[in-house]
Amino acid sequence: MELPRIVENSPWARLARLKLKAGSVAMVLGSSIHLSGATREQFLSDPYWVAHEMEHIRQFQQYGRLGFLWRYLLDWAKHGYYNIPFEVQAREAGERDAVLYAAGRPLPGPEQRHPTPKGS
Ligand SMILES: [Zn+2]
Repeated sequence: MELPRIVENSPWARLARLKLKAGSVAMVLGSSIHLSGATREQFLSDPYWVAHEMEHIRQFQQYGRLGFLWRYLLDWAKHGYYNIPFEVQAREAGERDAVLYAAGRPLPGPEQRHPTPKGS
């Protein structure tokens, strides 16, 4: 499975982490996955999390960088983070596609999975 570029200790992901009051955050910018509070290894060990972010990469491709970001921020203001349609879709994709990113390993249990930020 071809993975996108992964950026650790990203200042953009750090901003999102502070805003979401989350321990660790991954965020997609264009075709890269930016991490804060998690290492590349921690991120890649949770196929649910990888599948979630891969869906955001697909959304970026569908809507374009500006189209995605504009819509995302507008929907955040309108619906709150958890109910942003892009997030709802990515959570569904995470559940559906995790097995594609598990590389034959067993899927992690609920207590091993990265918690989805509830946000505000
Ligand atoms: Zn997301």
